[in-house]
Amino acid sequence: PLDKDEIGRSTWGFLHSMASYFPEKPTKKQSEDMARFFNIFAQFYPCEPCAIDFQEDMKRHPPRTHNGTALAKWLCERHNTVNLKLGKPVFDCNMVHERWRDGWKD
Ligand code: FAD
Repeated sequence: PLDKDEIGRSTWGFLHSMASYFPEKPTKKQSEDMARFFNIFAQFYPCEPCAIDFQEDMKRHPPRTHNGTALAKWLCERHNTVNLKLGKPVFDCNMVHERWRDGWKD
């Protein structure tokens, strides 16, 4: 089986990529479906203590699915909440599209 860190790293990669490619002008259905996706995801994430804390965090901060940038930042903030809990560095959410969609500018 994958361990908690491996599954975490690959899951964040998937979630941030998905959020970064979410349309800037989603249809109402896309917005609703994406919010539903995260609610279902949080129920079934295969690390129980992680899932419980993520559900609590999502209650305080429901998914912002009205456009792609809002979603990418929302998810970045959720990941930072986990980073803080684990004593990892906080990520600059202005850089989220460079990291997960556009590639670093140099
Ligand atoms: P990760 O945190 O996995 O990050 C991967 C890469 O994402 C980083 O290298 C960086 O480039 C980038 N990144 C970092 N922060 C951000 C950000 N804020 N926004 C965008 N990109 C960023 N582990 C536990 O031990 N306890 C938990 O309760 C727990 N809850 C989790 C909840 C969820 C929903 C998920 C997906 C994972 C959870 N994990 C938890 C796993 C944990 O978050 C890490 O994935 C794991 O510790 C491996 O960390 P890492 O240092 O490899 O980097």
